[in-house]
Amino acid sequence: MYKVPRYFPTTIVGSYPKIPPAEDLIRRRKREVIGEEDFHELVKPSIKVVIDDYLQAGVDILSDGEQAREDMVAYFAERLEGYRGGEWVRIFDNVYFRKPVVVGEIKYLKPMAVMDWAYASSISNGRPVKAILTGPYTMADWSFDLYYGDRRELVIALAKVIRREVEEFVKKGANYVQIDEPALSTRPLKEEVDVVNEALHIIFDGIHAKKIVHICFGKIERILEYLLDFPIDQFDFEFKNSNLRLLPYLVEYGFNKELGYGVIDVHSTRVEDVQEIYNDIEKLVKTGLLGPDKIYVDPDCGLKRLPREIAVAKLQNMVKAAELAREKLV
Ligand SMILES: [Zn+2]
Repeated sequence: MYKVPRYFPTTIVGSYPKIPPAEDLIRRRKREVIGEEDFHELVKPSIKVVIDDYLQAGVDILSDGEQAREDMVAYFAERLEGYRGGEWVRIFDNVYFRKPVVVGEIKYLKPMAVMDWAYASSISNGRPVKAILTGPYTMADWSFDLYYGDRRELVIALAKVIRREVEEFVKKGANYVQIDEPALSTRPLKEEVDVVNEALHIIFDGIHAKKIVHICFGKIERILEYLLDFPIDQFDFEFKNSNLRLLPYLVEYGFNKELGYGVIDVHSTRVEDVQEIYNDIEKLVKTGLLGPDKIYVDPDCGLKRLPREIAVAKLQNMVKAAELAREKLV
């Protein structure tokens, strides 16, 4: 079994550029040209390319690159009872998003993402692969609800099915479980944080694995003091894109969990150099807030919008910067 470095381990937030034929397979599965089982079988070569890229870069804790997911909400909605296929919603200009519709009681049917994770784990040379699931708050926020009529109720119903999926992951040996809640930062209010906190207890209480929540962008500092009550081990936040804007707030609120520290801008094709990434790690260390065993080095968010060669180059430099940090900052 691979030994994850004790200090400044490197990791991945989740998505990776789609490797052909993943996109084509997603379309064929949606049109029911291929079934679910064949789909997950046929997407394996794409996952293999992703894992090989991570291994080549030297990342410690991997993901399956979300090769099977066309987007983070529709993927799960299509695999739960209570949802029906979505309607197109215009986000801006000619950018459309397919919003799934809740039409009945949300129920768990069978594992939704475990098979891709299991395959990725089988070819990762013993390196751990994170189980990554879209959180109930983001699922609810990006759905049309025609059944529950109350956001909290829908979030709790979704939390219960996500709990079932987390149990399936842990049964198969997942040691890292990450819940993605990007929608929370769009409504940074205490009452919203309270709903997510309640949902996280449903998802995580009694689960033996590293419990992680990823939130990106938005005004996280407005809710940071409430977030610290979440029943989790680690937060994963974006830092690089906002020029480490959140850092002084972590100090102000006495941030005391492990931190997935985003040092790679996923919205820029500029490849950060090793020294630059190292300097950003050093800035966090110099606050004295967290020991090097509590700092996980990773990109701001998923890498799916970057060209693959840029994603690889960024990860390679990130890994080298973490190695340098282990030499100089421990
Ligand atoms: Zn994100």
